Amino acid sequence: MAEADGLLARIRVPGGRLSLAQWAGLGRVAAAHGSGVLELTSRANVQVRGIDPVAVGAVVDELVELGVAHPDPARDGRRNVVATPAAGLDPTEVADVRPVLDELVQCLVADGDGMHPKAGVLVDGGGAISVRGRRADVAFGAARVRRTGEVVFEVRVGGALPLVDEPSSAVAVVRADEVPAVAVAALTSTSGERSTTDALNGLDRIEAADLDRAMPEASAPLGVHEQTGGGYLVGAAPMLGRLDPALVDAIAVAAVRHGAVDIRVTPWRGLLVGGVADAGLLADLGRLGLVTDGADPAARVVACAGRTGCASGTVDTIGDGFSVIAALRCGDTAPRVHLSGCEKRCASHAAHDVTLVGRDDGTYDVFDADEVVVGHVRRAVDAVAGPGGRQ
Ligand code: SF4
Repeated sequence: MAEADGLLARIRVPGGRLSLAQWAGLGRVAAAHGSGVLELTSRANVQVRGIDPVAVGAVVDELVELGVAHPDPARDGRRNVVATPAAGLDPTEVADVRPVLDELVQCLVADGDGMHPKAGVLVDGGGAISVRGRRADVAFGAARVRRTGEVVFEVRVGGALPLVDEPSSAVAVVRADEVPAVAVAALTSTSGERSTTDALNGLDRIEAADLDRAMPEASAPLGVHEQTGGGYLVGAAPMLGRLDPALVDAIAVAAVRHGAVDIRVTPWRGLLVGGVADAGLLADLGRLGLVTDGADPAARVVACAGRTGCASGTVDTIGDGFSVIAALRCGDTAPRVHLSGCEKRCASHAAHDVTLVGRDDGTYDVFDADEVVVGHVRRAVDAVAGPGGRQ
């Protein structure tokens, strides 16, 4: 894609799972062909910015060689699957969704003719590190049937898996092996008139009260988490989801040193390093500048590419975002802040205490958590860290 800072390659990472070699390889691709900026996205993808147009063929070849892209761009785009990034390693999960994801991606690539280019699937494994509550064209959430203990997947089309119980409703459910076919069927309607009800026709239904569903409040998994079978999952995030190739390499080196087996990109624009033998990795990642504690204000600030990376951007959301983080780290409060270069608000559709939206004159409108305009500032930092708080 052409962006304000050159060509951008979006590498889809279904479920966020990358081998350590793939992670390090993405850094090498960015170093060789990009401007030096990589981004983690809210769909757990990786973006390489500022690619030299003459290098596009080489970039595609190298990404395919790494096993992180399909050579056919149309088929590659169908690998748009968000899933719990801790799959297979979260001791609280109902189902390890990795086999479901692998089969699902294969089916989408092979049989997804007619899918909308932006259509996406979500799969939640029912554990504490949850992706419930995120909208998807079709979403599957692992749950247990109370009476039998059987694991099933509840299905939602055109919405999000619920975050609160709806005990009186009937829920469409499928078995794990049915997920790929149901996803493809739901996404390949070409009539444009197929309704949610049509997509769910023929599926088994079960009373919600008969399903045992964990509905944890989804939040970025930062810090150290014990993982299934021993060892640790270590969560950390680059500020504003941005890295450079040297940082990518340093993370890979640290992960190897601490015995990690893989790296998962999370939909919170961070990383979970899996299979870590030694939890000291967290301190090493902190020394590299990553955010390792949810109490750090930097964990609560998000920004889109803004003026420096997007033609629609009216303000420098990245530079201003770093200024906001620096100011909040000196203060007493840590509001959730979203900086957006225009009204589209690409970086996040979640609620934030303060949302700053760029205007054509290079200033910001300030919205509160109820989406009410409460001010207008020339400098983003004045909206969150002025004397006495927001101005
Ligand atoms: S919110 Fe606007 S400026 Fe920011 S990335 Fe999206 S389109 Fe570009």
